[in-house]
Amino acid sequence: MSIRAVITGTGSAISDRNYGSSAAVITKNGLVLIDCPDSILRAMKDASKKSGIDLDPMRITDILITHLHGDHVNGLETLGWKRWIARQSGNGIQPRIHTIESVASRLWERLAPAMDQNGNAKLSDYFSLNILVPGVQASITELRVEARSSEHLIPSCGFRISSGGATLGWSGDTRFDPSHIDWLAAADVVIHETSESRVHTPIACLNALAPELRRKMRLIHMEDNFDQAVTDIVPLTEGEVLEVVGLGR
Ligand SMILES: [Zn+2]
Repeated sequence: MSIRAVITGTGSAISDRNYGSSAAVITKNGLVLIDCPDSILRAMKDASKKSGIDLDPMRITDILITHLHGDHVNGLETLGWKRWIARQSGNGIQPRIHTIESVASRLWERLAPAMDQNGNAKLSDYFSLNILVPGVQASITELRVEARSSEHLIPSCGFRISSGGATLGWSGDTRFDPSHIDWLAAADVVIHETSESRVHTPIACLNALAPELRRKMRLIHMEDNFDQAVTDIVPLTEGEVLEVVGLGR
């Protein structure tokens, strides 16, 4: 049993060559996005071409949101409108957004100036919202998802996503935080962010982790000048198909 995800973006917040860090998990009902960066429709199309897996934005059922920085949520407006317009003609379902309370509480404040239709529309016209409570597993199609708050400039979280005995860990944006890494280490594959900043995780911190942890770790949120030669942890690439296999296989 495994989890299959297509990587749609690997870049840092100010990358001029990669999409924002994100992925589409393939489920039996459709797609579960992890974050929704700028140019999400183009990011999905490019990842489709590279992977050979059709990532149709109309098949998105659920979106996990780590935090409200633009390189993680700027695509929500485009996607929200696209799906709203489709539903006016009876096509598609309303996507669900899942995140922690401290992120959810300001989500509409961020989207409303572009989406409230002169005061006539609400968040619930575009997305339904499910609050993830840290420590409590939520069922999202066949996935079980847990969130954990991370330390960043604004409220943020990471995820452990499990299905059929396999678990994918996703750090979200975070400063170097050994307790967050300990929590993620229970996963079969750990996607960890890296950028050289005090609100992110410098690669030297990850290089100092135990070899068995580094071996199951993959990197995301790299700056454009990231030098892969400085680490043995393998960066993800856009369009890569990530297969997470659990011990219960
Ligand atoms: Zn961020």
